[in-house]
Amino acid sequence: MSHPVLFCSDCGDDRPFERPPCSDGHGVECPELACTVCGSAILLGTDPPALPATPVVSAARAPAGAPSPHGPDPARHRAA
Ligand SMILES: [Zn+2]
Ligand SMILES: [Zn+2]
Repeated sequence: MSHPVLFCSDCGDDRPFERPPCSDGHGVECPELACTVCGSAILLGTDPPALPATPVVSAARAPAGAPSPHGPDPARHRAA
């Protein structure tokens, strides 16, 4: 169960993959798998929501970045 068979683009064929030691702190949810034949690494779950970095960046940006859909009004700046 720990060796899912997936297509390896390096081998050009289906290969058993294993989860390599994760150095990114993903733990059991690490999306990284490595081909047991050639060692080529792939990521599971290529959907954007599955990537840990993307939601973190947008969440941090939202409160600081966009106060209104119109943004700062350039005409006001020039008048003042
Ligand atoms: Zn990982
Ligand atoms: Zn391979």
